[in-house]
Amino acid sequence: MKMLKSFGRRSFLKMASLATATTATSAFASNSVLRGATKDEIRNPYPGSKLIKTICTHCSVGCGVIAEVQNNVWVRQEVAHDHPISHGGHCCKGADMIDKVRGTNRLKYPTAKVNGKWTRLDWDKAMSQISDQLIGIREKYGADAVQFLGSAKCSNEQAYYIRKFAAMFGTNNIDHQARI
Ligand code: SF4
Repeated sequence: MKMLKSFGRRSFLKMASLATATTATSAFASNSVLRGATKDEIRNPYPGSKLIKTICTHCSVGCGVIAEVQNNVWVRQEVAHDHPISHGGHCCKGADMIDKVRGTNRLKYPTAKVNGKWTRLDWDKAMSQISDQLIGIREKYGADAVQFLGSAKCSNEQAYYIRKFAAMFGTNNIDHQARI
């Protein structure tokens, strides 16, 4: 309150004019950088792009997606109306498939926490570490201490191999990820 009282009408008007001037200056600065899109840009925002038919990678339904690609960058997506399974439909996962692909937090290579810090591993090293740990767990606690989970994205053949791998490891603990 004390501060408000000492803040006179004159100072308030001065500050208000200053704020208006600053806003006007920033708007002018923005206008010199931003401009409205031209009619051509609205009609065709990605010149030279190609439409590529692909499928959603989230689950084995494999709904159709049309990917618009410009200079090897995926810029827009649409549903594939002529797809024989999805007939132009998507679930919410497929609808933002493009954002998964462009996401900056995607896991693109094996990573392990070393001294509290995420560190990149090469594939051979990652495979050796995982195999050593699996064998170590089996020796110490038995094969049933491990569970294998399949994936909604596996083909029949991949599911068959995962099942065989679990049997080779010595356990019946195998399930499908969509059921948990
Ligand atoms: S859009 Fe949904 S249902 Fe279709 S493949 Fe992707 S995740 Fe599966």
